[in-house]
Amino acid sequence: MVRVGFGYDSHRFVDGRPLLLAGQRIPFPSGLAGHSDADAVAHAVIDALLGAAGLGDIGTLFPDTDPAWRDADSMRLLDDVVRRLRTAGWVPGNVDVTVVLEAPKLGPFKAAMAEALASRLGIPAAQVGVKAKTNEGMGFIGRGEGVAVMAVATVTPER
Ligand code: MG
Repeated sequence: MVRVGFGYDSHRFVDGRPLLLAGQRIPFPSGLAGHSDADAVAHAVIDALLGAAGLGDIGTLFPDTDPAWRDADSMRLLDDVVRRLRTAGWVPGNVDVTVVLEAPKLGPFKAAMAEALASRLGIPAAQVGVKAKTNEGMGFIGRGEGVAVMAVATVTPER
């Protein structure tokens, strides 16, 4: 049996924070606003995994009202989610991510992002897709106000 889950996240650009996507620091004048480190890629992947495993959602597990998650390293939250999956008898299959943002260009960072996600998930990098595209100048993304990320993930029962 294979189960699939979907995750979505968005964060607003602000000055004075690092831009972290899949744990990779991307050189850019702005970072992302959020209670945690605002790593929208990690957040979308977490929700995709939780959805696939039927284990809830990131906002329930790591509420942004809880001081424990202030400036939290979201890749460590991903580690926690992978542990929860395994405890529930699931292992990650593959993950596919699309990042939508007008700038910066993520081409030079996509491989490192995929490798970082794969290592946290315990799967080969070939089973993690990271794609990036612009929103063709439309809407909040087009105006450079923020970033949106969509992710799908599969999980299979642990044998
Ligand atoms: Mg988020």
